[in-house]
Amino acid sequence: MRYEHTFAQSAEFLRQAVKRMSQQEAGLHPFSYAIWYEYVSGINRDLQIALDARLASKGKLDDPAACALYYKHVADLDAKTALRIGDSVGHLVDHVADSASHAGDQASHYSDSLERWSETLQRPATTAKGAPPPPPGLADILRGTRDMQKAISDLQERLENSSREAQELRQEVARAREEALVDGLTGLANRKGFDLALAAGLQQDSPPGPGPCLLMIDLDHFKRLNDSHGHLFGDKVLAGIGEMLRANVKGKDTAARYGGEEFAVILPRTPRGGAVGLAEALRALVASRRIRNGGNKQTLIGNITVSIGIADYVAGESAADFIARADQALYEAKAQGRNRVSLAPRPQPNVPST
Ligand code: GH3
Ligand code: MG
Ligand code: MG
Repeated sequence: MRYEHTFAQSAEFLRQAVKRMSQQEAGLHPFSYAIWYEYVSGINRDLQIALDARLASKGKLDDPAACALYYKHVADLDAKTALRIGDSVGHLVDHVADSASHAGDQASHYSDSLERWSETLQRPATTAKGAPPPPPGLADILRGTRDMQKAISDLQERLENSSREAQELRQEVARAREEALVDGLTGLANRKGFDLALAAGLQQDSPPGPGPCLLMIDLDHFKRLNDSHGHLFGDKVLAGIGEMLRANVKGKDTAARYGGEEFAVILPRTPRGGAVGLAEALRALVASRRIRNGGNKQTLIGNITVSIGIADYVAGESAADFIARADQALYEAKAQGRNRVSLAPRPQPNVPST
């Protein structure tokens, strides 16, 4: 784990980072928080040098500069670490918000007590004739009390602001976390989202009952389509495939853009017959669509087709082996002529030699 600080240390770095962040022009988003956290905690020397140089040459840090520093010096985190940080920040911020609200309540009670005490002192003594004069120094005490009340109410306001900022920061972290797992072009899970969904699926799916099935889907001769109609048009086709998968893969199933022009579908607790049926339906749906290039006088381009490899999970198999078998089945589908579905054979159990 990249951050090995104790709760107390990280809370102190949070405080320092928020102070630094609030002095810049850049928004209080997780990119800003990550760079300032690493800056104040002293764990990222290159970032410190780059950030100091940037502040010395150009003054306050704006959004593009904050993002550039983030990508250059912080973003080499793996997905799981990034998610863990998101969670830790969320918890930390929750804790700060709770403390702020608790302190705010205490301040408010204290302020009420002072108010009552101040009123009692000011009330004229009516109970007895010839009441003694107010004790000397009462005016000073009252003035001091009012100053104290004002200081407490200022503090309370600042705590409320901090609490609101902490809440907003937390929402930003949650949003960034979701965005980090989604592919921008198709709206499907991206590779990181796929890895997490598969790991979760393999953990959940234990016998009895069928394990998960995995579909690897690759567009046929996509390079040709790009070469003849341009990369932008190719992107539109990919977005269309994404839309089709979103419409047809639902519930507990996960559709992802595995990379480039390759997609994957994870089907938890699905027998192989069910996976073959879905794969065949998806293949037929893609092949049945007529694709037109709208920007070019609606030229009919013909059909896009996909090849699909399927593997059904074998208990104890690693995620990498599971993916490799689906990939091998995809390769078979391509070798047999494309626009088809192929099911991976199940590995033979190791028979001990006699
Ligand atoms: P095959 O049927 O064997 O899969 O042939 P293919 O041409 O689809 O396969 P190949 O791996 O040779 O080429 C894949 C092409 O996909 C190459 C690349 O230009 C294109 N590609 C990958 N990612 C994207 C993308 O994000 N947008 C676009 N437009 N094209 C992409
Ligand atoms: Mg292809
Ligand atoms: Mg490919």
